[in-house]
Amino acid sequence: MTDPAPDLLELRGVSKHFGSFRAVDEVGFTVRAGARHAVIGPNGAGKSTLFGLVSGTLAATAGSLLLDGRDVTRLPVHRRVGLGIAATFQHSSLFLPETVLENVLLAALRSAGAGAGTGLGGRRKAGARAAATARARTLLERVGLPTRHDVPAAELSHGERRQLEVAVALATEPRLLLLDEPAAGMSPAETERLTRLIAALPDDVTVLLIEHDLDMVFELADTVTVMHLGHHLTTGPPDEVRASAEVQSAYLGTTEVSS
Ligand code: ADP
Ligand code: MG
Repeated sequence: MTDPAPDLLELRGVSKHFGSFRAVDEVGFTVRAGARHAVIGPNGAGKSTLFGLVSGTLAATAGSLLLDGRDVTRLPVHRRVGLGIAATFQHSSLFLPETVLENVLLAALRSAGAGAGTGLGGRRKAGARAAATARARTLLERVGLPTRHDVPAAELSHGERRQLEVAVALATEPRLLLLDEPAAGMSPAETERLTRLIAALPDDVTVLLIEHDLDMVFELADTVTVMHLGHHLTTGPPDEVRASAEVQSAYLGTTEVSS
């Protein structure tokens, strides 16, 4: 028998309160290394807030987060990026006036520590930039934007922007990639391409995905977590989750699954 994959991420009773409102309330589950793990739940369930706690853009009110057994709960975003956590957000964080290539390059250089103020010599800096440029081109190819390098990000279609966001996140060489509704606003063809892209990511990139397109979720995910009103309802294999009465009732009465 082979050993089960170790946990890459563990959430232990994680909470985020906004005043007296509990957007995320004592949520606990684990994400296996190499997983394609989806988080679903009705609008307002606390999914994006939970991602903020994992990426570090939000500070947890209580509980702890462990990456590879290491407590990262109090680490700032850039330290978590350094440890391999990368995120795309529900609302875009691209540099719109910059070109497509430059957006990916900036992320690659930042994560390589070759950004401004690191004191690298001129020649080493040029070498780092050349290597990062090559990597950025490869990533743009992988996400399906090979001919759009020199276009300002502002000129991309909605679907292309989301593809670019994935390339930007991958440029930091993450071990854990957080995708918050990457298919939102995409055409069926774009969603299909994105699904294939995520499915083709190497196993050393663990994917934690928030998505309201349940077809995409059930096509991609090997594990599904359901949240409702800030609570963790269940985590399990897709078929079990789909059949769960508790999950069905959480969705009953909501015509829209998420936002
Ligand atoms: P989801 O992504 O599952 O739709 P969110 O995590 O965005 O849900 O939001 C969960 C709840 O927390 C919502 O009711 C939302 O209004 C609330 N919320 C999110 N961010 C804030 C904030 N900064 N201040 C106050 N309430 C917030
Ligand atoms: Mg959300």
